[in-house]
Amino acid sequence: MTGRERLMLTAALAGDLVDANHILFDRGIVDGFGHVSARDPDHKDRFWISRNLAPGMVTAEDLMCFDLDGNAVDDDRTSYLERYIHAEIYRARRDVHGVVHNHSPSVIPFTVAKGVSLRPVCHMCGFLRKEAPLFEIRECVGDGSNLLISDSRLGAALAKSLGEEPLVLMRGHGITVAGANVRQAVFRSIYAELNAKIQMQAMALSPDVVYLSQAETDNANATIDSQLDRAWNLWKQQVGAPARPNPQNRSTEIGDRQRVDPAR
Ligand SMILES: [Zn+2]
Repeated sequence: MTGRERLMLTAALAGDLVDANHILFDRGIVDGFGHVSARDPDHKDRFWISRNLAPGMVTAEDLMCFDLDGNAVDDDRTSYLERYIHAEIYRARRDVHGVVHNHSPSVIPFTVAKGVSLRPVCHMCGFLRKEAPLFEIRECVGDGSNLLISDSRLGAALAKSLGEEPLVLMRGHGITVAGANVRQAVFRSIYAELNAKIQMQAMALSPDVVYLSQAETDNANATIDSQLDRAWNLWKQQVGAPARPNPQNRSTEIGDRQRVDPAR
């Protein structure tokens, strides 16, 4: 940032980011840890994420702006150690505008059990498409790491494992989920946890589980994707927030010109 440029985020997108934190906490996807971010709609090489705070406590005042090297822009508050996850995924994937990183409890078994992959088992989880990719941190830094994505090099390696997929599993750690917007990243995080739970139940009943085919995942995903706001508005109501149009949906951006400075 140079001169007297002020950091700003639309009120609607700041609202979505705060709501995303509260919804993920309310749905048990994050606890004291985990985080969610949004790409800045006007500066595509920046993103917004809370300062180092439990997601359930985040307000608009806590949002910070970062560049894609993971450096805070004009802000010296303490930030999340794993902000490089978000930075490197936004760098690698121009189609991604929302990212969630969490330690979703039913997903973690799929990061450590050999010979088993997280795969789509029901129509609500068609976004999974096929076997979820797995990031093995030992392939980058060997044995003895703390498993955290604490620099750009590890963030880039994670983004490489993600590839063009909607999510990547992280061995012994958790999951990172990408979305076209914050709402989609939240939806996918909640349903990845549900898919993991259902898949484990099915595998306990039979070793021969029928997964969605590629054609079924494509069609189911296209249908469900158009219905995300229905779930989002219910989840918002449960955390006490009023329903609003999706600020990252172009068809609803017009008229949303009032801006706030969330860091002040
Ligand atoms: Zn983590």
